[in-house]
Amino acid sequence: MKKIQMVDLKGQYENIKEAVNNSIQEVLDTNTYINGPEVHKFQKSLEEYLGAKHVIPCANGTDALQIAMMALDLKPGDEVITADFTFAATVEVIALLQLTPVLVDVEMDTFNISVEAIKKAITPKTKAIVPVHLFGQAANMEAIMQLATEHNLYVIEDNAQAIGADYKYFDGKKKKAGVMGHVASTSFFPSKNLGCYGDGGAIFTNDDDLAHKLRGIVNHGMYVRYHHDVVGVNSRLDSIQAAVLNAKLPKLDEYNAARQLAAQKYSQALANHKNIVTPYIAGERDSHVFHQYTLRIVDADRDGLMQHLLDKGIPCAIYYPIPLHSQKAYLDSRYKEEDFPVTNQLVKEVISLPMHTELDDEQIQFITDSILEFLK
Ligand SMILES: *Cc1c(COP(=O)(O)O)cnc(C)c1O
Repeated sequence: MKKIQMVDLKGQYENIKEAVNNSIQEVLDTNTYINGPEVHKFQKSLEEYLGAKHVIPCANGTDALQIAMMALDLKPGDEVITADFTFAATVEVIALLQLTPVLVDVEMDTFNISVEAIKKAITPKTKAIVPVHLFGQAANMEAIMQLATEHNLYVIEDNAQAIGADYKYFDGKKKKAGVMGHVASTSFFPSKNLGCYGDGGAIFTNDDDLAHKLRGIVNHGMYVRYHHDVVGVNSRLDSIQAAVLNAKLPKLDEYNAARQLAAQKYSQALANHKNIVTPYIAGERDSHVFHQYTLRIVDADRDGLMQHLLDKGIPCAIYYPIPLHSQKAYLDSRYKEEDFPVTNQLVKEVISLPMHTELDDEQIQFITDSILEFLK
């Protein structure tokens, strides 16, 4: 059996080596490392793929979130509601901009931000909601957008983990994750579903004025060279990373399908076990592109299981081990433990298994057998 990796970037590269190498070679031959034609080409291809009017490439997914919030003119003291159960980047940029993060609980089944919890957290100071499409499945966007319209709030989708996922509206209309809110961010960190070979990110919007503003902010607030109209940052996707993405974007649907197939095989093998809850797919509403394949281990020794798997050479991880409201940097006297029953439970139960585009049946069988051997 091939050695099991949490994410097998080497195996994936072996299968697309020629396309990636050629694409990078072109950048080297033309010496256009910054803002080269590869970047423009990627921007256009991603706009087309997503059905987004504007894609603004930038340096990473954290910058993308920050720049989106800067462009919306949010002011210090404005409250921004986001999920307690996510990667820290989301809450970090809210705090960095001196906005007030308001963390709320998530849904037990999808792990995504709870619409009921958002409702309870809205105050006259609330200006925006940041749903995170966690682990590859979009949050309940239709309900969130409705709430946002009622309260005149911006919605910034953190789509770092769900690029390519479909979301189905009540009337049957479909959209890609990342084009439903006012603006969205994504990351091309190597292990994401669409990853480059370094850092990269992008912002999406269908709003022309906002897109114009975003394009200035990523480039030092310049719309005309050496005229700085707004305070900006330096956040670029470089041409070599864009070249990698140009080679990989045409494979994204195939990659997501490979993840879905692996997930299906895991779930089949682990179904109907009293201590295992396999990932829930809100199929009437969402597709799930399995950035992570995350189980809940209930009434059993999750940490013991993790050690058992690691001992057998099976990488696995806890995403995320500590609720954001309990992190030192984000403590706030307004939070009460009883406001986060789901996140507080999930951090004790979740375990993420190896998930990537190169998992084979033998590996999946070995992983699921090893889990069942421990839980009996
Ligand atoms: C990866 C990730 C980010 C940050 O992306 P970087 O490119 O690493 O800055 C933000 N939010 C979520 C949910 C992520 O998973």
